[in-house]
Amino acid sequence: ATPMSVMVGVGKAAEYGILIRQGDALQQAGRLDRVILDKTGTITEGRPTITHVEGDDQLLALAAGLEQHSEHPLAEAIVAHARDQGVALADVTGFEALNGKGVQGQHEGQTLRLGNRRWLESEGLDPSPLENAATAITDNAGTPLFLARDNQLLGVIGVADAIKPDSQAAIRRLHEAGLRVTMVTGDIEATAQAIARATGIDEVRAQVLPEDKARIVREYHDAGEQVAMVGDGINDAPALASADVGFAIGTGTDVAIESAAITLMRGSLHGVADAIEISRATVRNIH
Ligand code: ADP
Ligand code: MG
Repeated sequence: ATPMSVMVGVGKAAEYGILIRQGDALQQAGRLDRVILDKTGTITEGRPTITHVEGDDQLLALAAGLEQHSEHPLAEAIVAHARDQGVALADVTGFEALNGKGVQGQHEGQTLRLGNRRWLESEGLDPSPLENAATAITDNAGTPLFLARDNQLLGVIGVADAIKPDSQAAIRRLHEAGLRVTMVTGDIEATAQAIARATGIDEVRAQVLPEDKARIVREYHDAGEQVAMVGDGINDAPALASADVGFAIGTGTDVAIESAAITLMRGSLHGVADAIEISRATVRNIH
């Protein structure tokens, strides 16, 4: 493309709330084969709320006692819910957040753990008595978080995050433009599949550790595809930097925005489809 037509394309993109931070990103957008989407805050709103609380009377006090020390969106939802219910937060010392697993700490000489099933199972707990509650949570596209005190399972909390109203339509446009769409998430398979079904996503990579998101981007690239990554979190930064075109959600973290070639100021996935259309129109104008 000539410098003039690229300038026109960049200006057109800006009208759509698409900020091109790296010069060649606009031209590359038109050549993409695949878009990889982070789940939380990208496909969904990123403001989870509590949908289920099942178990011991102290469940919420203990869970929120742990989560008051975490900055994860799941943690904020649990603490806000406890406060709404007038529940006093338990004192927790020695707090630790474990990547892709959950959080733990000490309360009255016992170890509290709140996190996903796989982690609690690896700690020797058996979450199967809460199977029905967990299924009800995942069927509604929510995330089940199990709480244990030492070797005793206390209950499960369901946290759900609404899908952005236009995610499904934007994903349809990506398909119509000939792209494949993959979701990557640290969340469990059942929750990820429920969101994929609701939005028309064809491929899901679940329980992905933050460091593995970038590896997945490179895997597709090395298989010969031009790959976009779309994300908002600190976790997404390496994947955004590894992609052929990185798109950061404008309301996302600074680290994500700095790692991506393009910022979507409107926070909508339509911005990805718009960028691809503008790119293709820009390149067409030259020939
Ligand atoms: P993502 O941002 O893609 O959802 P994360 O790596 O942040 O992925 O989290 C993956 C999983 O780890 C969560 O779905 C949850 O099961 C567990 N987890 C992470 N942080 C917390 C937390 N503060 N409290 C409970 N569980 C957590
Ligand atoms: Mg996210």
